[in-house]
Amino acid sequence: MAKAVKLERVRNLGVVAHIDAGKTTVSERFLFYSGRIHKIGEVHEGATQMDWMPEERERGITITAAATTFHWNDHEMHLIDTPGHVDFTIEVERSLRVLDGAVVVFSAVDGVEPQSETVWHQADKFKVPRIAFINKMDRIGADHLAVIEQVKTRLGARPAFLQLPVGAEDQFTGMVDLLTMTQLTFSGEEDEAPSENTDLSSDLRVEAEVARTALVEAIADVDDEIAEAYLGGTEIDAATLRAALRRATIDSKLVPVLCGTALRNKGVQPLLDAVVEYLPSPLDRPVVHGTHPTTGEPEERPVDDKAPLAALAFKVAMVEGRKTVFLRLYSGTIAVGDEVLNPRLKQTEKISRLFTVHADRRERVEKIGAGYIIAAMGLKDFGTGDTVSSTKAPIMLERIDTYEPVISSAVEASSTADKEKLEDALKKLQDEDPTFKVRVDDETGQTLISGMGELHLDIIHDRLAREYGVQTRLGRPQVVYRETVTGEGTGEGHIERANPANDSEVLFGGATVKVRALPRGAGVHVLGKVPPPGPDVPGPLKSKQPMAVAAALEGLREAVNTGPDGYPLVDLEATLLAVELRDGVKTDVGWRIAAQTALRHALRAAKVALLEPIMDVEVVVPEEFLGDVLGDLSSRRAQIEDVGVRGVQRAVKAKLPLKALFGYATAVRSASQGRATFTMTFAKYDAWS
Ligand code: GDP
Ligand code: MG
Repeated sequence: MAKAVKLERVRNLGVVAHIDAGKTTVSERFLFYSGRIHKIGEVHEGATQMDWMPEERERGITITAAATTFHWNDHEMHLIDTPGHVDFTIEVERSLRVLDGAVVVFSAVDGVEPQSETVWHQADKFKVPRIAFINKMDRIGADHLAVIEQVKTRLGARPAFLQLPVGAEDQFTGMVDLLTMTQLTFSGEEDEAPSENTDLSSDLRVEAEVARTALVEAIADVDDEIAEAYLGGTEIDAATLRAALRRATIDSKLVPVLCGTALRNKGVQPLLDAVVEYLPSPLDRPVVHGTHPTTGEPEERPVDDKAPLAALAFKVAMVEGRKTVFLRLYSGTIAVGDEVLNPRLKQTEKISRLFTVHADRRERVEKIGAGYIIAAMGLKDFGTGDTVSSTKAPIMLERIDTYEPVISSAVEASSTADKEKLEDALKKLQDEDPTFKVRVDDETGQTLISGMGELHLDIIHDRLAREYGVQTRLGRPQVVYRETVTGEGTGEGHIERANPANDSEVLFGGATVKVRALPRGAGVHVLGKVPPPGPDVPGPLKSKQPMAVAAALEGLREAVNTGPDGYPLVDLEATLLAVELRDGVKTDVGWRIAAQTALRHALRAAKVALLEPIMDVEVVVPEEFLGDVLGDLSSRRAQIEDVGVRGVQRAVKAKLPLKALFGYATAVRSASQGRATFTMTFAKYDAWS
């Protein structure tokens, strides 16, 4: 059993970075050092522990937001891994929403790159306090001062550089801690703590004094206590500076900056110390808001074990074949055996097991309180974004946005033997990932998978092979369209012929259907407004009517889900206006067919239109490239909604069809020499001229 750690000593943190800046290497070192120092288990050397899916290693990107627990200086850290690729924006948002602070890794050579800008702005949106780590100080061309300048100019943040690097490139040996004026020298051996020296050489001392003054000034700019002491000429001790830095970091007024090289094992321990020192505990974060699931009244919950349970399911994954839900507890406690409410489904489920995940093992937990991150089993119907609520005081936390899948592709098992395995594997993948959908096309019998982007589907394809041993072929990706009507129209259907299934019977039916357009988002509605038969209608026919109406409505409901081009129909109302009756008809099949024919004619009369996925795109770009980016956007039929200012950059908001965004990532990069960053999210289905 892990010893319970007080909430002040908990850090829910994420490491975020542009691809290749060293996020995985840094995370890896975190786990490694914590393991060594506490002598828990053995850490597998060589293989990375955080990127647990093989295709992540191969592609060099990290996709799954896994939560891993480790300890440092009597603090319990829950490290939430965050992906960097644009196709996985939702994963990043999901993790930013549940973590309390982030370490942003920059490469000392490449500086502030597009994806780190994107993530930085996402972190702004969720008000997540940050510290920065300038990695790769060992590389030729490492320039930490340039990176710090970019943090100011590109991100519009106020950096507070806590260290003075000693040596450069392959001569980089460590740094002076400017708060304590201690020189830290790293041997580069992976399991060694740095040697400490307070007796700085005179040259180094002079440089360090200058750097320390700059640091104190940076803190004084945002903190009155420090400003007073500084102006009064008082010597300010390390503890006072640390306390001020902590306040300023938590209020997102300052970003503490450290440097090092994770690969060469230099500077990671001070970074861990800084996480403990400056990033917030769950107690430092604002109360969580939600609504009452039935009344819709606003509700809030304090970070308190005694308050009713409120937790967010931020990730669903299969762990050793069992559905596992990762939870962030905001308030209350949760214990094995507890009944918890899913307010979305209005049903309760029982927690069968709780555990924390370490890089190399899991640890069972019986009970856990507010502020913690935990993995739970037994929650069979919970999905990503669901609230896990107390049954007595229900609350629904704001859902994590889910995006509509907008790209689809046919998938086919390479061998008949794999067919069944494929079905099973697809179901499991769908459970994990709310943005991934599977369906079988009624007409072609093809299995269609859909998701957020091309890379998303490629990864699914790889995972099918590796995790489930199913070889598949993917078709070419297609935009997922919808169909609707633009006006109003009426159609008739009539059938009268021998029943092919039974010669002695006649198929007869007649129906009139009206279709009209509804506003976007209204859905599909089927109505039956057939007037009862008049007094002159003979008895036997009268008794026919209910059967005819029921059959015609059934036929209508079946057909109204798919448009003439085979895409889902949306936003319309179909009304059955009349049925045609005849005596002696024994089967109701005719009315069903007649209603479907009538619908087809009515749709045509009401003018069918294709709706395509329209995306919200935001491009953040330096002024000098704004013109090129705008020009490229308008050539893609974009509707520019806003051109604003974001820090020192310009931010363009636009809507455009997904179809016009194929290849956009590459185009925007070349139009801006790699300086523009863009995010896209699904906005709506609509017609686009
Ligand atoms: P991620 O994409 O942000 O997760 O980056 P990785 O941790 O996978 O690192 C990308 C590449 O940079 C790998 O080849 C690492 O070995 C290398 N790398 C990471 N940190 C350092 C460092 O401090 N110095 C040098 N020279 N290379 C590093
Ligand atoms: Mg990585």
